[in-house]
Amino acid sequence: MLDALFNPKSVAIIGASTKELSIGNRIIKNLVDFGYKGPIYPINPKADEVRGIKAYNSILDVTDEIDLVHIVIPNKFVPMVVEDCGKKQAKTIIINSAGFKETGDEGAQLEKEVVEKAKEYGIRVFGPNCQGIINTDSEVRAYANFTFTKPETGGISIIAQSGGVGEVINQRFSELGVGIRMYASNGNACDISIPEIIGYWGDDDQTKVIVVHIENLPDPKEFMEVAKEIAAKKPILAMKTGRTKEGAKAVSSHTGGLSKVDVATELIFKKCGIVTFRDEEELCQAAVAFATQPIPKGKKVGLITNTGGPAIIATDEFVEAGLEIPPLSDKAKGILKEHLHAAASINNPIDVLATGGAEHFRTAVDVLMNEPQIDSIFINFVTPFFVDTDSIAGEIAEVNKSQKKPIICNLMTDKGQWTETINILKNAGVPYYSFPETAARALVAMTRYNDLKVREIGDITAFDDVDKEKATGILQNAKNAGREFLSAEDVNNLLASYNIPVAKWRIAENCGEAVKAAREIGFPAVVKLDAESVVHKSDVGGIALNLTEDDFQSAVEDMEKKFATENPRFFVQEFLSGGKETIIGAKAEPGLGHLILFGIGGIFVEILEDVAFGVTPITQFEAKEMLSSIKSHQLLTGFRGEKGVNQEKLVEILQRVSQLVTDLPIIQEMDLNPVIAYEDKASVVDARIKI
Ligand code: ADP
Ligand code: MG
Repeated sequence: MLDALFNPKSVAIIGASTKELSIGNRIIKNLVDFGYKGPIYPINPKADEVRGIKAYNSILDVTDEIDLVHIVIPNKFVPMVVEDCGKKQAKTIIINSAGFKETGDEGAQLEKEVVEKAKEYGIRVFGPNCQGIINTDSEVRAYANFTFTKPETGGISIIAQSGGVGEVINQRFSELGVGIRMYASNGNACDISIPEIIGYWGDDDQTKVIVVHIENLPDPKEFMEVAKEIAAKKPILAMKTGRTKEGAKAVSSHTGGLSKVDVATELIFKKCGIVTFRDEEELCQAAVAFATQPIPKGKKVGLITNTGGPAIIATDEFVEAGLEIPPLSDKAKGILKEHLHAAASINNPIDVLATGGAEHFRTAVDVLMNEPQIDSIFINFVTPFFVDTDSIAGEIAEVNKSQKKPIICNLMTDKGQWTETINILKNAGVPYYSFPETAARALVAMTRYNDLKVREIGDITAFDDVDKEKATGILQNAKNAGREFLSAEDVNNLLASYNIPVAKWRIAENCGEAVKAAREIGFPAVVKLDAESVVHKSDVGGIALNLTEDDFQSAVEDMEKKFATENPRFFVQEFLSGGKETIIGAKAEPGLGHLILFGIGGIFVEILEDVAFGVTPITQFEAKEMLSSIKSHQLLTGFRGEKGVNQEKLVEILQRVSQLVTDLPIIQEMDLNPVIAYEDKASVVDARIKI
């Protein structure tokens, strides 16, 4: 329960300075100016009053109960006043002061001390190094924050890790004339976390949409649990910044190197049903629509326009995003033909013409509302001087009351002149935009939310034909031997223990053994260098492919000579001809599990970068989605006479890899590259596992 934070009955400010340009002073001004409903208690031992409000020596001198305390004093004094807050039995503190975890080890230690002290007294901590909260509720009016934007009341709640980003978003809604419900920016988040806040807003009826900005997910599992539950109830729109930092963390093998963007967070968002954005403006514009409009039940858009070009632009946006513009029923066309101008276009988009008036728009909107195969309504509305645009807006506002299907409006007008038209839409809660693209993208985002909500990702398949004990033993032995990468022998045995198909193989200590092994496997055969020091074999000439019985021995002898100093063994393998090379990989993500990768493999994998990711454990549906989401998906399905591959088999391998790394989290990275896929089967011919 975060009531004491968002709905405080009283607020004290420790560090309530008399200086106008100080944070402690500013918070008091903000609370007063915003019309805070409860008493304010400035704490300042050197002043009798601050901003005309009686000040106290210590929080312990206040007789009233205190719900919320701002702490705005230098970091080193914070633990001491937290002690006072504890004695006073204050419920929640917002530590605005900086100088904690964000500054390094010493600050982190101080932060820990604060958290421990607060816990001792049962106080919740928000921050430190943060702005605070805003609640626009008319019963509360809490502006417990030191920034400047004074939002109107509305249905959007914003949580931003970064105060700067939060303020930008808050400011943008103000400029757009759109109100917000609550706001929070919790900085270091030492106690009250973003998931907890999302959970609180999930239960707040007045919050219609939650906007989230994060830089990192300290506890991805906690986030997923909460966000999944809330996103099923109300839309969460999120943006993760610091995406490319992952690139710097690129590791030696492919999966790490290929996840240059922070795919993990975006995958988590998707798994939870959160709509993801990469642009703050687009996020804000979408939130405006989410705040007042019902969610479309499908992808089919009906358009109404009174001008040509912008409808085309919007149509392009919709189609590119996978939405549909279906034709209208004969019944609908009949009604339109009867009521619109003779020259009007009665298909989808419906063009009511620039001379179309209120009754024409009304007919068109009613028709779309009643068309069963239309899920959402997009209105392109330019304001010609020769029609009564106020009446048109009035009709749109009237139909909007039913909240049956979302209505999004692209309003092309002079905002200084057509103020009444704008006000009618605004007061009715019909979102209106200045560009067809912006408006269309807002509707696309709403449709995306619905897609995420209704999609069934299925359950995790638990393969029971696996030998977990054997796999654990292999990994434990390798660890005890101090290995970072498993030997070829261990890798192949490990995969086999999870029934992941591998090409026939033998290990040979010398040339004679290699020849014998190749005879057992059959020709043509393959020989590869097996040395702990070599990670990428083909880079150093440690591979000989497609060898006949005649060539085999000399190939091994050449390798023996070339790598004499590496103390090599030989990995002899059956040669698999034809087939398509794919890559399957896994990489551990702290606090989350593993990322799973699928893509077109072989030696071009880094160039093509045609890969898709998933978060463990993956379901069959998710594995299939990974296959179908790569650009070269047609290589798998077959095209122009080329045969496709057995996708079910690849899906199964992906799921088995997911189970393997989930069962054995000691695996840091795993690269099966290539997995050669055929019409009937798939086999791993090269694998690398890092522990
Ligand atoms: P590395 O990745 O260490 O360079 P690989 O074992 O993946 O070595 O071999 C490099 C390439 O050789 C593979 O991408 C594949 O094209 C080919 N190759 C390797 N083993 C086989 C095999 N058994 N059958 C057919 N082609 C193979
Ligand atoms: Mg390879």
